[in-house]
This record gives sequence, structure tokens and C-alpha cells, in this order.
Amino acid sequence: MLLMPQHLLPDVSALTDDFLQEHEIRGVIFDIDNTLVGFRTPTPTPEVLALFARLEALGIRYAIASNNSRSRVELFVKELGVPAYHRACKPLGFALGRIRREFGIPARNMALVGDQIYTDMLGGNLAGMITVLVEPIDHKETLFFKLKRKLEMPVINRKRRKDAKK
Ligand SMILES: [Mg+2]
Repeated sequence: MLLMPQHLLPDVSALTDDFLQEHEIRGVIFDIDNTLVGFRTPTPTPEVLALFARLEALGIRYAIASNNSRSRVELFVKELGVPAYHRACKPLGFALGRIRREFGIPARNMALVGDQIYTDMLGGNLAGMITVLVEPIDHKETLFFKLKRKLEMPVINRKRRKDAKK
């Protein structure tokens, strides 16, 4: 099922060394908004920087693919020097494929980490990557967010039931 995340994690800090090694993850593509930081956080937090340092220590490559604007993404990655795509058009795979080829890592060893089913999970699954859904950082109670969540919950609940049966 192309919408279904392969893994549900509470947040990106749950990408532990054990998790990354167990799933043979050699490259990670991160969404920014509500995945690494909340909408109103313009730059990486100390927690995000610690995560990136840990990935580097493990020899794992990482990149950013955000559907947000150039200014949002450029400011976020300013100090990082990582491949970063704005207006990445997830779930379409152009940016994801470009990053994967740049890293030279097979899709099965690449993880896509995001907070949204219909962009991040669908995009990662279509690209043949390992998909990891995290809980959105800001639970914004806007009408749009509520509607979106309503569309996502059946997929998330189905995955939870599937995991519970294991
Ligand atoms: Mg997001």
C-alpha cells in the first residue's frame, strides 16, 4: 500500500543507531516542517544538529527535501552544507531521485522521514525507499490541518493495527 508508512516513530530522535543499523539505512531524506522543527522555527535546533552529527558519525548521508519555499529551506540549511531541495513537489520523485543518485545509495537503503502521508510517505514509497512517519511537531488546530489529519488517520490507524498484530 503506497500510502502506508513502513515505520511509525514519535519523532526524529527515535531514529536511534540501532534503528538505522537494523534497517540498513545509509542515507536519509528529511522533510523540514513539522518533522525536524515546527513551522515557526527557522533554523535547526540543538536536537536536530545533534541528530545530524550522530548520522555523520555513523557514516550516514542526509539531505533535505521540502515542499516549502526557497527562503525557508535556504535559511534552514545555511550552516549545514547538505543537499537541499525546496518546492520538492513530493510525492513526485524528482528531488528524491536526484538526492539518491547524488549519494549513490540504492533506494532500499534510503529512508524518507516526514510527517505527512500524502506527500512524504507516498513519495518515499513510490521511490522505493524506507518510509518513516513521525508525529507532527505542531498540532495546529486549523481547519485545514484537521481536514488533512482526518484523511491521514485511517492510513495511520491501519498501520498501527498491522503493527499490533506482529
Ligand atoms: Mg512536513
